[in-house]
Amino acid sequence: MRHPLSVHLQIYQNNIKLQHYPLINLKKSSLERREKMSSPLISIYAFFAGITFGSFFNVVGNRMLTDESIVFPRSRCPNCHYPIQHRDLIPIFSFLLLKGKCRHCKVKISFLYPIIEASTGFAFLLASAYAVNLVTLAAHLLLISFVMIAVVTDLIKMIIPDKLILFFLIVFSGYRMIFTMQPWWDSILGGTLIFLFLSFIAFLSKGGIGGGDIKLLAAAGILVGTKIVFIGFIMALFAGTITCIIARMLHMIHRKQAIPFAPFIAIGMISSLFWGEYIFSIYKTLFLNGHALSSF
Ligand SMILES: [Zn+2]
Repeated sequence: MRHPLSVHLQIYQNNIKLQHYPLINLKKSSLERREKMSSPLISIYAFFAGITFGSFFNVVGNRMLTDESIVFPRSRCPNCHYPIQHRDLIPIFSFLLLKGKCRHCKVKISFLYPIIEASTGFAFLLASAYAVNLVTLAAHLLLISFVMIAVVTDLIKMIIPDKLILFFLIVFSGYRMIFTMQPWWDSILGGTLIFLFLSFIAFLSKGGIGGGDIKLLAAAGILVGTKIVFIGFIMALFAGTITCIIARMLHMIHRKQAIPFAPFIAIGMISSLFWGEYIFSIYKTLFLNGHALSSF
């Protein structure tokens, strides 16, 4: 007899064209469109759009922390305040060409900038590959923008600004009023449940998880619903725990050092957005075996 997981994976693969997509219900026509949407050329375009937006998220994150306007003035070197020229604003490439140093004063530029640009590039590439139509693509891109800006502010100052959360909370709620989930209340339930659950964890652990992280996940829950937000949190916890263990073994952090959690929320939520349903189907097979197979 074959292992239940392999049987289930086979069924999963056969049914993959009929499965429910995390954000909207899939119809056959939209799957055909998805195949059309994910050509190599579109992937390349999505990656370059992503690194450009990543560069913008760096600016937004930095300026939110200093209460500056997002549009003006032009970006300046944080050390010598010399305005950065247009040719030095090309995402990733400028950093490599300048060998990570300011053209004017040669001070080192943070590695954070190209890392945010490259990860946004890959996230946008995934978003375009997994989108079935422009509506799901918009949801993917909105969530990625939200978590990436939070990563920037959390890495710089260990803060996720309330105005960032409020802005996306309004955008996500508006999106979910127009494009409702199945069932429609799953969006409200997702945001509320994760908020209550994490507040309870924070209370028990006396601040083991920050208020900004809780609000970040609650706002994301409004957009993606209960299942995807909880899977995202579990994945974030896994990624964070493994990273902490490794960092401690390498003596990179102290025992009680607080580390920013937003990067792990970003990893968890983006993975859950694209592979959450798949991860959930494996979980069902492993732990809820009989029910999982009968549901197909
Ligand atoms: Zn400089």
